[in-house]
Amino acid sequence: MATKTIKIRIKDSTSAKTLKNMSRSVNFVWNYCNETSFKAIRYNSEWLSGYDLQKLTTGSGKELGINSTTVQEVCSEYALRRKQFKKRKLRWRGKKSLGWIPFKKTGITFKCGFVKYAGHSFKVFQPDRLPGKGEYGSGELCEDASGRWYLCIAVEYEPEYQAGKGEVGIDLGLKDLASLSNGEKVVNGRYYRMMERKLKRAQRYGKKKQARHLHRKIRNKRMDALHKASTAIVKKNALVVVGKIGAKKLAKTKMAKSVNDAGMSMFKTMLKYKASAQQHCIFVEVPENFSTQICSNCLAVSGPKGPKDLGVREWVCSSCGAVHDRDVNAALNILRFGRESLVS
Ligand SMILES: [Zn+2]
Repeated sequence: MATKTIKIRIKDSTSAKTLKNMSRSVNFVWNYCNETSFKAIRYNSEWLSGYDLQKLTTGSGKELGINSTTVQEVCSEYALRRKQFKKRKLRWRGKKSLGWIPFKKTGITFKCGFVKYAGHSFKVFQPDRLPGKGEYGSGELCEDASGRWYLCIAVEYEPEYQAGKGEVGIDLGLKDLASLSNGEKVVNGRYYRMMERKLKRAQRYGKKKQARHLHRKIRNKRMDALHKASTAIVKKNALVVVGKIGAKKLAKTKMAKSVNDAGMSMFKTMLKYKASAQQHCIFVEVPENFSTQICSNCLAVSGPKGPKDLGVREWVCSSCGAVHDRDVNAALNILRFGRESLVS
């Protein structure tokens, strides 16, 4: 079992005010700790621990309208920070401090998509992400600078990692980012295409700042997709074969300048270093000679020829009658080239 922290936005129509009120109680506890601890140091030369502070504040939660574990967490957090910053006194928490309500596991429950805390229920934006019973640890409700509230909580999850034994050939493409020999495709999502249209519009009207912003957004989105896809591929497979992209393949197409060619080499780089980081996975690069023309079923050269037939997405082998998706067939050939290169 591993743990990670998830962050879910809380709907703020009614809850923001309630949460803000409760965070004032948290501030009250914090400031009390600050005062008391400072006095103890000054008059008794005594450094109160988190546990000491907890004893002093026991039972105050109910009166303050916050969970008792919250009071405990504030006390231990206070002692921790004071130690960390090596100070006799920390900053006062006031109106300007961002709202913060920590809690322990037992201080919170989730029911029917609602977060239940200190007798209040809060609606969240992605209820399906809320952890199930016993699958979470401590956490906090916290506010960001624009007054939005979030639930941040440690959740347990089963790392799904299992060294894969599969083999896969990958055809890097112009239309789709990559086609795999098992028929899967790595594509640019709808969101991505929408952003690209927006970018073109911005460029046409000379909106430089907006264009730059969109460009960055698109790049991030693409990187993210490539990372996810390459990680999944490397995990599932023991052999990953990729075709070397000839300069000709790019130059002969209209899309040579498209953002995709940058994506292709980036994807290849990711696969390469992720495979090398895994004991179980071999990465092979092979020349992709005739990979689109050879029928992966009977090995006859019966497919569409060269870039002028790039429009042909699907074809039927004239010798064996197999129906091929152009890119998946290429990926199957690339996989075969890779296997052969390892044997010879
Ligand atoms: Zn055939």
